[in-house]
Amino acid sequence: MTWETRRFHEEILSREVGAVRKGWGGKLRVALVYPNRYEAAMSNLGFLTVYARVNARADAVCERAFLPRERTGGKVLHGGYKRPRPRGEPAGRGLPLTTLESSRPLSDFDVVAFSLSYENDLLNLPGLLSAGGVPSFRADRAAQKPSRRRERPLVLAGGFAASLSPEPAGAIADAVVVGDGERAVDSILDLGSPRPADDGYLKELAAIPGLFVPAGYLPEYDPRVGNGLSPPGRFAGLAPRPGFPARVVRETISLEEFPPVRPVLAEDAELGRMALVETSRGCPKRCAFCAAAHACPDFREVPLGLVRATVDALWPHRTTVGLVGAAVLDWRHFRVLSKEILSRGGSVSPASVRADLVDEEIAGILSASGHRTVSLAPEAGSEELRTRLGKRVADEVFFSAARTLARAGIVSVKLYFLCGIPGVGEGEEVEATADFLTSLRREVLREAKSIGRMGTVTAVLSPFVPKPFTPLQWAPMAREKDLKSRQRGIAAKVRSLPNVRVSADSPRSSLLQGYLGLSDRRVETILRQAGMGKVGLPRGDVLSEIVFREKDAEEVFPWDVIEGGLPRKALRARYERLIRR
Ligand code: SF4
Repeated sequence: MTWETRRFHEEILSREVGAVRKGWGGKLRVALVYPNRYEAAMSNLGFLTVYARVNARADAVCERAFLPRERTGGKVLHGGYKRPRPRGEPAGRGLPLTTLESSRPLSDFDVVAFSLSYENDLLNLPGLLSAGGVPSFRADRAAQKPSRRRERPLVLAGGFAASLSPEPAGAIADAVVVGDGERAVDSILDLGSPRPADDGYLKELAAIPGLFVPAGYLPEYDPRVGNGLSPPGRFAGLAPRPGFPARVVRETISLEEFPPVRPVLAEDAELGRMALVETSRGCPKRCAFCAAAHACPDFREVPLGLVRATVDALWPHRTTVGLVGAAVLDWRHFRVLSKEILSRGGSVSPASVRADLVDEEIAGILSASGHRTVSLAPEAGSEELRTRLGKRVADEVFFSAARTLARAGIVSVKLYFLCGIPGVGEGEEVEATADFLTSLRREVLREAKSIGRMGTVTAVLSPFVPKPFTPLQWAPMAREKDLKSRQRGIAAKVRSLPNVRVSADSPRSSLLQGYLGLSDRRVETILRQAGMGKVGLPRGDVLSEIVFREKDAEEVFPWDVIEGGLPRKALRARYERLIRR
């Protein structure tokens, strides 16, 4: 540990409330790594929940590590004042990656656990492990001398992206948590000191519900198809070795049994000075592209008393409450709790707002909480195209929500659209999105005139990426050129409209997301390149196989090893209905 590293870490810790620093004596040591920036990690409730739960155990200590900040200096604006940003984290300048709490390298820990919320974060894992002194790939660790193998930490992966389809993360991780991780993490620690080089220990891990152990499965490929892949062939299944289950059941916990935690509060969190509290998991709507609603199809709610208790515990430090969930307005206590918080002088920020649930009361809550922009997700520019995405909501629902919000003083809206909708031509998609934006702007303007203020309508265009366990898992992605052309077409059509802005997510990054999310352990090839600093898309024939191809009805998916979600037959029937309209 260098003096510079310690001073850097102390500076960060001094701006946090709730960080845990424990002595290591006799405890299991867990390094929890967020493979992206500190600011994003500290706004990620899943990451913060694992940290709090492991540290709640007397026999374990959990410390955090992050992707090092870039080397640039400069200023960050925070809380109305400017403070100098540290000039590059030591680990970003070639020094070892160490944890925040004790500045020790990852190799000193018993467990190194990654929280992967986004598929593309997988690209950061090899570099982080190697900077922490741990061989990056499972195959490399297995090839070490027995004495070295015994010393190395167990590498775990969890989080939404890893959990949705664990095969890609399995190129790196010894085990992947599938589904809710709360109970699985406890069960892993209950096994005592990890022995990842011991096959018997791996079998014990595989017996834990919701834990996928990649070494327990031999991948099979069909060499007659699947050009360009290495090893060659289309994915054809995972054959379990003796002692490993044929399928891993996605873990689902009761949100009453595992109440919300009190997360660490960080001044520099991306979402600002906000107390994040979970309200629910899943969504009752089940739009056909949405993994959050399909991975675990039950909508589960946290009881009001548990959410309120967490808000109360955090109240001395934070009076802005970020209510977290894929469907926060569906949480039946949203209105009651929000009004309570407002009456105490605080404010609320729901993680998502569904247009059909916006009424005068909701708009009032958002306005009283200081929101001047609200995000809505039409996904497509017409009801017909929306229906193709399994989201049957009329345009008027969004117009009405925008008018209601404007009357409450919220005159800026951010609208999320998918582009490259399966089976929809460019012309139709561009026309529909541009028409929708034109109409919605007109509706907001009408209300805004009466209150004498007009805001901005911002359209965010994100390429459609098929997700495992959804009805659209069989659908192909559009090509990069096509996606760019659609984004440019929409931007061109609304360029002359005052107060309308267009922001386009990178098609290249979305294709990478599709590739990493829909693949199997053979992503190792590009992860190795990423570990050497070369991040890029795989070759064209590989992309054609994995992302641009409509999958066969009976095709075996890498995520078929997971049992969970809706029956495949029902998903396929819905896909047929949507795509063959
Ligand atoms: S409403 Fe939102 S969270 Fe719910 S299924 Fe649709 S896209 Fe997913």
